[in-house]
Amino acid sequence: MSELNKQAANGGSSLFPTYARYPIALVKGEGSWLWDDQGNKYLDFMCGIAVTNLGHAPKPVKDALAKQLAELWHVSNLFHIPNQEAAAKLLTDNSHADAVFFCSTGAEANEAAIKLARRYQQKVKGNGRYEILTFAQSFHGRTLATLTATGQEKVKEGFLPLPEGFRYIPLHDVEALEAAITDKTAAVMIETIQAEGGVLPVDPAYLRHLAKLCKERGVLLIFDEIQTGMGRTGKLFSFEHYGIEPDIFTLAKGLGSGFPVGAMLAKGELAEAFSAGSHGSTFGGTPIATAAVKATIETMLSEDAAGRAAETGEYLVSELRAKLAGNPFVRDIRGQGLLVGIACAGPVAPVVAEGQKRGLLVITAGPDVVRLLPNLLVSREEVDQAVSILASIFADLTAAAQLT
Ligand SMILES: *Cc1c(COP(=O)(O)O)cnc(C)c1O
Repeated sequence: MSELNKQAANGGSSLFPTYARYPIALVKGEGSWLWDDQGNKYLDFMCGIAVTNLGHAPKPVKDALAKQLAELWHVSNLFHIPNQEAAAKLLTDNSHADAVFFCSTGAEANEAAIKLARRYQQKVKGNGRYEILTFAQSFHGRTLATLTATGQEKVKEGFLPLPEGFRYIPLHDVEALEAAITDKTAAVMIETIQAEGGVLPVDPAYLRHLAKLCKERGVLLIFDEIQTGMGRTGKLFSFEHYGIEPDIFTLAKGLGSGFPVGAMLAKGELAEAFSAGSHGSTFGGTPIATAAVKATIETMLSEDAAGRAAETGEYLVSELRAKLAGNPFVRDIRGQGLLVGIACAGPVAPVVAEGQKRGLLVITAGPDVVRLLPNLLVSREEVDQAVSILASIFADLTAAAQLT
């Protein structure tokens, strides 16, 4: 292709057009604030997407990374990696899990969970179970296995054939759940709040019933905590709200404060299913990645980031309910901790765009839900600013009838 044709085909960019990008280039971040290359300042209520849970460039993580950058970047997992051991110990000391596998992304963590569940059933239990049950509207990632696990058709278009062994059930349908579990079922995978699916919290009674059913029928329970974990919902991990101990759970997004890292965690009896050589990842748990994990968890614990997310989340929701009360476009304000959704009567893309113009970054969760994901240490003044900008946007757009 000629240079001109190439540019015309892709808007002058050398990147695949996989993202519909906003017309903003962010170049600097500190705490709750971001700056673009034009010098404009934004209050960040999206945090990547639930990634920078301690705000941008939190000092303890920045210092730990700088120290590690000066010492050693990478060694193979064929060697002991002290930071990796320490990060894993912090995770197991602060959860019911006994074993951790580090990787680099959320999809990779879910892949590891799917592989561990199958291998445990087939190699340790010696049965033929392979099927993974997931839920309509769920989101579990973009690799072939995890997009297959995802209960949304839009991520699957054009990628056929998909891997076998996945089955979907409607959320909150107890009969469908009981009927779907067979002697082929290896595991059920669920998000406690369907985040990408529209900030839809799963009913706690349903979650408990699911946990009980899995236990009775020899099925492993996998919680995808990639968005709900790392303090986001007001507990370090969201399963703590329900008194449920999933056999396996996965983390990524907030785990490294923005450094790319994921993890799959499991109970001790599953550990032997991953023997030497059965799974691996070149970049999983490097000295740098696990320095970020270690500093992130230590900071979350010392700052009680989860407790603050719970308190600030309640404040945010009550302020939103007060300031958006009576707006005909707003249908529901829901969520847990600082994973909050404003469900609306129609498409909310104009709210996101208007937010950017007025210095507030928010995202959608599906077409009709505005999703708010501030950092867990966000101040009440910053929450007040965000709510006031949102209230003025909703008022102005409703008045201009751009939203109906
Ligand atoms: C973001 C997300 C993933 C995928 O994580 P990646 O790092 O993008 O691969 C999986 N599950 C949930 C619930 C997520 O929010």
